[in-house]
Amino acid sequence: MNTKTLSVASIAQLLTAEHTRHQNTINLIASENYATAETRAPLASIAGTKYAEGYPGRRYYAGCAVVDEIERIAQQALLDLFVPKELQAEYHANVQPHAGSSANLAVYNGLLKPGDTILSMSLAHGGHLTHGHAVNLSGKTYAIVSYGVDPDTGLLNYDEIERLAQLHKPKLIIAGATAYSRTIDFARFGTIARSANAFLLADIAHIAGLIAGGCHPTPVGHADIITSTTHKTLRGPRGAFILCKKDLGGKVDLSIMPGTQGGPFMHAIAARAVAFLLAQEQSFGDYAKTVCSTAATLAHELQSRGYHIVSGGTDNHLFLVDLSKTPGLETLSGKEAEQLLEQAGIVLNRNAIPGDTRPPLTTSGIRIGLAAMVTRGAKPADMAQLATFIDTVLRRRETPTTGIDIRAFAHRFTVPA
Ligand SMILES: *Cc1c(COP(=O)(O)O)cnc(C)c1O
Repeated sequence: MNTKTLSVASIAQLLTAEHTRHQNTINLIASENYATAETRAPLASIAGTKYAEGYPGRRYYAGCAVVDEIERIAQQALLDLFVPKELQAEYHANVQPHAGSSANLAVYNGLLKPGDTILSMSLAHGGHLTHGHAVNLSGKTYAIVSYGVDPDTGLLNYDEIERLAQLHKPKLIIAGATAYSRTIDFARFGTIARSANAFLLADIAHIAGLIAGGCHPTPVGHADIITSTTHKTLRGPRGAFILCKKDLGGKVDLSIMPGTQGGPFMHAIAARAVAFLLAQEQSFGDYAKTVCSTAATLAHELQSRGYHIVSGGTDNHLFLVDLSKTPGLETLSGKEAEQLLEQAGIVLNRNAIPGDTRPPLTTSGIRIGLAAMVTRGAKPADMAQLATFIDTVLRRRETPTTGIDIRAFAHRFTVPA
């Protein structure tokens, strides 16, 4: 790297360049979203200076009166967002996890002993690395039993999950995914967990905003613990939270601090509080519903152009395209599709499809999510055009230079400042 680029000014320039990149492109990355300036403002605040190890009213540092209030507001706003008033006395909120991965590891560390069994969705079928993949601390520490989707339907097979739960008697069952486009039946998972005498963790990292907005059923009342990121469909700052039944609250708190984290990021907790409050507004419910209808429309538009969508469609904000089952594109890998689309100005990620025969860095699929573009103003009516762009790029196998204007389309949807 050129030493001239090692300057404060170059970072400012690169941040401007990153904003321009977003504005010039169509963002279909299912885990991304654009938090509003109102939500992002606390991230630059002086609250980031404060050391506040511990919890409101019981800190290991002086000077915490103000940040105590901020954290209490965040905790209450989180409860208000997900837990009906009459059930709130039974629930406990922890708003300190730095990321979804940290939240999950803290739950395992708090509730399990090394060697205990976890039943979770395999990464290859749409689960998350922190649900027990061999390369993750979770997979190295616990005995992992995996469930997947039915190879024919692409749907979770709850009878099979129940059979595995009865057979292996896991201490913890995880319901939640990074690449599953259908409604997750948390009530059924709750029944399965109780009959196997296991804790149920609902990891709602992807769908938290849809649950808050009323277009996916809630795990509250079914799961013992709920973890989530705050930056995906929930549209908050980077970060995470844990909601759990009150009797597990002490273990969860201790497992975050001192178990797995040090001082909480108070500026981020302030921003999370703003996001939890904004997500209670009617306009956020409208947003979430538009995300789901827009994703369903794009899946449908691609299907009508011959694309194979895993499970046949979507109930949430994302879906997987199986290129290996798409006539004419069988030889195109997910990696090649990702690269072709990026060159043309459409940004998304390759993704393994259930039963993928290609390696994880190549894959036979792409994952498409609409949370970010709907924040930028995209609607179902825009999806026919977008499907035509994707189809043109993938079928020509080159960046079209004539006839389609992806950049002009991207510019119609403003990225928040
Ligand atoms: C994104 C995600 C996580 C991890 O969140 P990070 O903030 O990236 O650590 C955990 N679980 C699921 C299901 C996810 O989709």
